[in-house]
Amino acid sequence: MHDMSADIERVLLSERELKDICSALAGRITKTYADTGRELVFVSVLKGSVVFTADLLRRVPLPCALEFMKVSSYGAAAHSSGFIQVHLDLKRSVEGADVVILEDIVDSGRTLQKLSGLLAGRGAHSVRCCTLLDKPTCRQVDFRADFVGRCIPDVFVVGYGLDYGERYRNLPYIGVLRSAVYTRA
Ligand code: 5GP
Ligand code: MG
Repeated sequence: MHDMSADIERVLLSERELKDICSALAGRITKTYADTGRELVFVSVLKGSVVFTADLLRRVPLPCALEFMKVSSYGAAAHSSGFIQVHLDLKRSVEGADVVILEDIVDSGRTLQKLSGLLAGRGAHSVRCCTLLDKPTCRQVDFRADFVGRCIPDVFVVGYGLDYGERYRNLPYIGVLRSAVYTRA
């Protein structure tokens, strides 16, 4: 049996740290949306955000809905425009609702910039972005998430929902993948 942990150079965030990050984010979100009188809709971005979403939402004691979208963004580094392709869309309207997009990691910023614009254009009352991880030094477009779990350096991470070639999502921690793993592919 292949030992996944042998492919991990170092653990960046332990299970304990991830729990604490989720609790802190949930506290901020709960404070922000308590007593708004509006519908609160979480939009989790598949697939990387699934584990984060499950841990975060169980700590938010507010009435809310959970929806999923699957998107990918394209655009060469030199073009801040880029575009977003929607592979799985919402089955409902978000008109008048407070929307919180849940993302695993922000890199260039393209995905969340485009997705938040898309949902705002559908008449949401507000659209905010919550990301577990942020790589601020990798930004290619002007984008800032509203709720950030942890800023990390420009390293490729896997685990806790994040994959490399669809693997490693089930690691319970966030780890830096050994470069030998992707150079041998
Ligand atoms: P961007 O912000 O560049 O539009 O896109 C962010 C997306 O790129 C994330 O949702 C994720 O799918 C992918 N990504 C960026 N950095 C990493 C990383 O370090 N590890 C993994 N597994 N995916 C990443
Ligand atoms: Mg993602």
